[in-house]
Amino acid sequence: MDLKIIFPDIDLAGVKAVLIDLDNTLYQYEPCHKYALQICFENFPDAKISFQDFADLYKKHRDQVTKLLLPQGACRSRFFAFLHLFEELKISQAYVKALQFDEIYWDRFISAMKLDENARNFLDLCKNKNLPICVVTDMLATTQVRKIQKLQLENIVDFLVTSEEVGFEKPNSIIFAAALQKLNLAQSDVIMIGDDENKDVEGARKFGITSYQIQIC
Ligand SMILES: [Mg+2]
Repeated sequence: MDLKIIFPDIDLAGVKAVLIDLDNTLYQYEPCHKYALQICFENFPDAKISFQDFADLYKKHRDQVTKLLLPQGACRSRFFAFLHLFEELKISQAYVKALQFDEIYWDRFISAMKLDENARNFLDLCKNKNLPICVVTDMLATTQVRKIQKLQLENIVDFLVTSEEVGFEKPNSIIFAAALQKLNLAQSDVIMIGDDENKDVEGARKFGITSYQIQIC
């Protein structure tokens, strides 16, 4: 069942505020990730492995960190993924290199981010209607603030709720409840928009919030 829609199709009638996902909803995640990982590899000349092996190793450790630390926000930590990757490769003082690579990764990732044009128009429309906007996202809080600033949305996004802040990831209702608390509104007053059918759409819907699965191009 494909119910994905695009931003202009979202019905704002009777809506008092908008909850919205960040990653892969307001910008395309994958090109930023690929670019950031490529630059990390180029900064690792002592590696005796190919880029593909490096990327596979990174993914293995990212997945393991997610599994180990879910539902805490730290399950999204790139630092821990790099730490375990460098430890596996027997790099000395792996924790120092992991910090360096966490910084390289996010600096490059964020530098590559571009706001989706339809998302921009939709958020402007919400602002013209004086609708508060709350970003609801599974990630470490300060990283998401940097992303919002890079997209130049700090004057448009009124509130931010992260899984790091509440201790649970979407689709857990706790994260949606925290957003409503910040807005001082009820389920029927808001809509939720995101790219993930389970986390964003089903999660919000089960909590009584009308939700939309967005498809960005
Ligand atoms: Mg997303």
